[in-house]
Amino acid sequence: MLPRGNLPIDSVWAPCESFRVFPEQGMIAKKVCMVGSFSVGKTSLVERYVRSIFSDRYLSTVGVKISKKDIVAKGQAVSLVLWDMEGKDDYSKINLSYLRGAMGLFLVVDGLRRETLDEAATLQTVAHSLVGNIPCILLINKADMADSWEVTDGDIVNLEQQGLTIMKTSAKTGHGVDAAFLALTEAML
Ligand code: GDP
Ligand code: MG
Repeated sequence: MLPRGNLPIDSVWAPCESFRVFPEQGMIAKKVCMVGSFSVGKTSLVERYVRSIFSDRYLSTVGVKISKKDIVAKGQAVSLVLWDMEGKDDYSKINLSYLRGAMGLFLVVDGLRRETLDEAATLQTVAHSLVGNIPCILLINKADMADSWEVTDGDIVNLEQQGLTIMKTSAKTGHGVDAAFLALTEAML
């Protein structure tokens, strides 16, 4: 265990001191928040990603599930601390206690429901007003059902022209999931 002074990022655990983890020497911690409407696949994406080395804790008072996964990006060992609102989250109530200390955001959209894209745009505005312009990737999830998507290629091109990074994922098949987490991690370094 490292002495406190060597902890790279205090703010990761600031809202929940009892959940503090102690990254190994040389490893840095990055808090990532999953943001998006109900049922877009936020929890499924995290579970797909961390399944092999699953370590999760609940902050039941604020309805947040925290999972951790250690990866290497750009040659740097990184401990990703993934925050996911539990249960029937009311996405409109995304707030500072959830986002505080976040270094990266996934905005998750359900490709089958066009309205979740509009909601994601609103959430992005709220999130950036709370935590500043941190790296953010918009995930269009449920790519295994892309034939039935309401979100069109035209929508995606439009968003890309606005400067958003967009990736397609399927928590069901795993398609694009590792690549998305790696891309966000690299953007945070
Ligand atoms: P959350 O509310 O954003 O956390 O969404 P969940 O992860 O609970 O997923 C909502 C529903 O969508 C569940 O029934 C999941 O099984 C389903 N789901 C999530 N990701 C995918 C996906 O990539 N493909 C398909 N077909 N279903 C998915
Ligand atoms: Mg969930």
